[in-house]
Amino acid sequence: MSEIQADVLVVGGGMAAGWAAISAAKAGASVVIVDKGYMGTSGVTAPAGPNHWWVPPEPELRKSAVARRLETAFGLADPAWMERVIDVTWRSIPEMAPWYPFSGNGKGGTFQSGLRGPEYLRALRRYATSLGVRILDHHPVLELLARQDGSVGGAAGHDRLADKAWRARAGAVILATGGCAFRSGLLGSYNNTGDGYLMGVEAGAELSGMEFSISYSISPAWLSTRTLPYTGARYFDADGQPLAIPGWDKPRDYLCRLADAFRYGPVYADLHEAPAELATVLREIQPATLAAFERRGVDLFRDRFEVKLFGEGTIRGVGGLRIVDTSCATSVRGLFAVGDAATREHVAGATSGGGAQNAAWALSSGVLAGAGAASAAQKQKGRIEQTEKLKPLGGAGLRPTGTVQKIDRNAAVHTAQQEVLDLDKALWRNEVKLKKSTSVLDNTWTDIRRGLHADGLDAVAAREVAAMVATARWCTSAALARKESRGMHVREDYPVMSPEYQHSIVTTGLDQITTRLDTYHNAQEVL
Ligand SMILES: Cc1cc2nc3c(=O)[nH]c(=O)nc-3n(C[C@H](O)[C@H](O)[C@H](O)COP(=O)(O)OP(=O)(O)OC[C@H]3O[C@@H](n4cnc5c(N)ncnc54)[C@H](O)[C@@H]3O)c2cc1C
Repeated sequence: MSEIQADVLVVGGGMAAGWAAISAAKAGASVVIVDKGYMGTSGVTAPAGPNHWWVPPEPELRKSAVARRLETAFGLADPAWMERVIDVTWRSIPEMAPWYPFSGNGKGGTFQSGLRGPEYLRALRRYATSLGVRILDHHPVLELLARQDGSVGGAAGHDRLADKAWRARAGAVILATGGCAFRSGLLGSYNNTGDGYLMGVEAGAELSGMEFSISYSISPAWLSTRTLPYTGARYFDADGQPLAIPGWDKPRDYLCRLADAFRYGPVYADLHEAPAELATVLREIQPATLAAFERRGVDLFRDRFEVKLFGEGTIRGVGGLRIVDTSCATSVRGLFAVGDAATREHVAGATSGGGAQNAAWALSSGVLAGAGAASAAQKQKGRIEQTEKLKPLGGAGLRPTGTVQKIDRNAAVHTAQQEVLDLDKALWRNEVKLKKSTSVLDNTWTDIRRGLHADGLDAVAAREVAAMVATARWCTSAALARKESRGMHVREDYPVMSPEYQHSIVTTGLDQITTRLDTYHNAQEVL
């Protein structure tokens, strides 16, 4: 067992983790990052090429950016949070100049709002290292550790390369584990299995906005790629008949019409008539997308090809760990949540924050939590070196409550995917379907909780299965609790938006899940 000590332990290796580590180190904390994969290729930031919410500091521009976004948030966002996120994003990106090769903006300045994913992460890695941050790749976290008073004081995991357990003692822990796409095949999401949600709830934290998890991206049927080509696509059925699919400006209609078309057979995209500049832009900023077609011998702009919708779960959905103040603290002392691991309702409301806000959120929640965690760790100083016994908090997959059983893990993951991502269940929700899903998922969870046990490296895979099933249950319970239609959450049996539900749905609990309505215009200012 190797022992690690740090003021701040950052769990994850995407953009939220990078910014959190940099900010904590700038505040004087010793910082360790532990990533399940390699910080630079793991997570959705790496292939995403994130475009950030980018608004110059002119009061009128900022005011109208917030007003525009509030219109699509369906009453569930907080303008103060939006302004904070825009501001932190604007001030932070230029700091990367020594590490990131910004392109020109064609007007003599630099283009800073959209960054190429791999270079972005490489820059964050180098920036963090320059401040003394220690990065431990291939160190998945299995569980959090609690102090005697219930606050979070560290984490434990497994070093994949050395095949050896590790334990970290820390003044504060930041969960930057990304969202959960339930292993749908979504680009970059393989390691994002909801582990942070599971670990957070095991420590006593709450989740918020989990019902807003209805997001899908279109890709060629054989591989998830980025979605830019489809801005120029027309769609056809297997008989070559054109399908009337509306544009992306109407996301719900676009998704529903596509989903409907899939009920009758395969759907094909055709880019014959795409604007000529699309090819140029693609070659310039997304060469990997083109490569996915070239490897298959498909000419993207000449051949008709089959497409599929890849579920994005909470990644370009909204839900995640509930945060209680402007330092992104959870309700558990010593525990912070950032990026897609945290709820993004504050800035996105009831619609996807993909396209600009999620990236700005990942960056700024990281910056704010890094400072908050450094300050929390400062108060714990002395305690980190002590031998105070830390209690391991991991349950499912690590400490079964019954007799160990052979659990069919693939079947459990398939169940989670079916109940959350299946288009019919996700897009046309109603009480009957949701209750059925809840019951199926509860049974799967009970089996896992009672009988699933693994150790060593295998425990990583076991915990992933547990986390995906747990996340599916939280999404379904929250969807059942929101008895109205709002934003991306649409209920056939409650088709209109109700003022009674102009609140977030807070979900928590493992074996028994509870939900409650909460207002989030209460973020306490701490920074
Ligand atoms: C294809 C695509 C395109 C996108 N484009 C945009 C865009 O243009 N604009 C925008 O605003 N948003 C966009 N998004 C969303 C945006 O990319 C994400 O919101 C953002 O990258 C999230 O960053 P993150 O650090 O929270 O998560 P990630 O980058 O996903 O990082 C999560 C990290 O956690 C690690 N991890 C997971 N579990 C564990 C564990 N148990 N132990 C240790 N580490 C763990 C993973 O290895 C990974 O490194 C896009 C998303 C996708 C999928």
